Amino acid sequence: MQQFTTVFIDIDNTLWWFSRNSELALETTFRLMGCNTWCKSYQVFHDHYEHYNHELWQLYNQGGVKKEVLEVKRFEQALEASNYCCDDVDELATAMNSCYLDQLVKNHHLLPGAVELLQYLHDKGYQINVISNGFKGVQERKLADGGMNRYITHVVLSEDCGITKPRPGIYDYAMKLCGAQPQDIVMIGDDPTTDIAGALAAGWHTIYFNLSGVPCPTAHHTVTSLLEIKNLL
Ligand SMILES: [Mg+2]
Repeated sequence: MQQFTTVFIDIDNTLWWFSRNSELALETTFRLMGCNTWCKSYQVFHDHYEHYNHELWQLYNQGGVKKEVLEVKRFEQALEASNYCCDDVDELATAMNSCYLDQLVKNHHLLPGAVELLQYLHDKGYQINVISNGFKGVQERKLADGGMNRYITHVVLSEDCGITKPRPGIYDYAMKLCGAQPQDIVMIGDDPTTDIAGALAAGWHTIYFNLSGVPCPTAHHTVTSLLEIKNLL
């Protein structure tokens, strides 16, 4: 493996166990907002939410929807699809989003080996940076509460530079910020499109963290656990 100086790591579902923390936050939100009084099945609501949230995030990553719209619309669509029929759906969706974001950062599960990997990369002398499309306030709390801040030099968020992964501008912005050239950089992430395809187009080396089971043959390397990365870097 060639010599690299700089590592960029995605946050959600790479360091911070988004899917697990989000499940817990959504279930608590459903209960706290009294949804069990009109919706008999949490699972039904959950499946609708996951569907619409995924659709809206895909649109957001392409710059097709604003953050404020995504946040409320995912709940609004899930409520409607779950047959919620009062006319305060807007209001309830807004309240549910606030409650969900609040609950989300109260759950601190990290992917196994996340901190150990950061410590290892730090000890090996790599400059460690994160790069994420997640929302600023939320991402900063995840890094702080997860004890990861002390390892990280630059936090590159799409909200700060106005361009989401995998669009090229965010990688240019990241390189300018850390003063590195494409050949110096390794990207580690769990998303074949936003992490791997975007980084490849920027000329970066790539390590795909396959959490979902979906293969990504274009990545330079694939790992299924974070600690496998110690064999590569
Ligand atoms: Mg991710």
